[in-house]
Amino acid sequence: MGRLVVVGSLNVDHTARVERFPAPGETLTASGSASDLGGKGFNQAVTAARMGADVVMVGCVGDDADGDLLLHTLRAEGVDSGFVRRHGGLPTGRAHITVDDAGQNTIVVVPGANAAASFPSAALEGATMLLAQLECPLEVVQAAIAAARAAGVATVLNPAPARTLTNDFLALVDYLIANETEADHLGRVSFRGTAVITGGARGALLLVPGRESRRLPAFTVPVVDTTGAGDAFCGCFAATLTRGGSLDDALYGALAAGAHAVTSQGAFSSLPFGADVERLLYQSSSDVQSSRSADPGSSKT
Ligand code: ADP
Repeated sequence: MGRLVVVGSLNVDHTARVERFPAPGETLTASGSASDLGGKGFNQAVTAARMGADVVMVGCVGDDADGDLLLHTLRAEGVDSGFVRRHGGLPTGRAHITVDDAGQNTIVVVPGANAAASFPSAALEGATMLLAQLECPLEVVQAAIAAARAAGVATVLNPAPARTLTNDFLALVDYLIANETEADHLGRVSFRGTAVITGGARGALLLVPGRESRRLPAFTVPVVDTTGAGDAFCGCFAATLTRGGSLDDALYGALAAGAHAVTSQGAFSSLPFGADVERLLYQSSSDVQSSRSADPGSSKT
């Protein structure tokens, strides 16, 4: 089996629930609050490990209680944390999240120790795929992707949060997974790899060079909090490919993983296990079968 290297952020998320988002200059009272582990890198590494991939994480946390908890949890989830550095002078990263009654979120990230992340090429030992996002310094992500490419390791980039990227950098990326805001931000860059544009409750759009684009519908689920949907999607996608699955297996698993993540509150606490993804995939295939058997025309094929 292959090995997945996840390069990214590790944070503690502080979430406030509000009826609606505050306007600039306005103060609102939250109807509830919660703390959870998070960071795009952490969430994606944990999801990938839960999907059965062999995962090593590269990142940086502070020498504080939040850092202890993140490292302990990575190990408990079966992620190799040997390349997560501890920084004596910076606190562990934080995210301040607001979730409204419609389940939409706004997020402000305070990088802390994530800003001191670095990429040791020894982390690529035995790797077959590398997955990165943009919450760590851009030069670290660029170095990681360039080193992976040079070592023949497949690269997946989730360009989140949105940033301006060069064509030279994108030329080193095999798979790009962006939500619509991030894709718009990339604008008119030329990308020659496989791109997946996620669209929340509308599912995702697959763009493979030389083929027609394909729309992939989302699973229908009750929405509680959309935080972590994109991370669940990316973690499951990369884990499935790392384990030798096909692009279709990776996409349908990722759609199910993203859907599961919106059905409960928080990021880490809403990340799917393999059984959650299997259950959604199984339900949808039985829905298709029962709608076929209810349709008299379907038996004529
Ligand atoms: P991000 O969290 O990065 O903004 P999206 O909101 O596009 O990303 O969500 C990522 C994926 O999660 C979507 O492509 C979809 O498969 C799944 N997803 C997100 N929101 C929903 C929803 N309301 N219902 C079902 N699936 C969803």
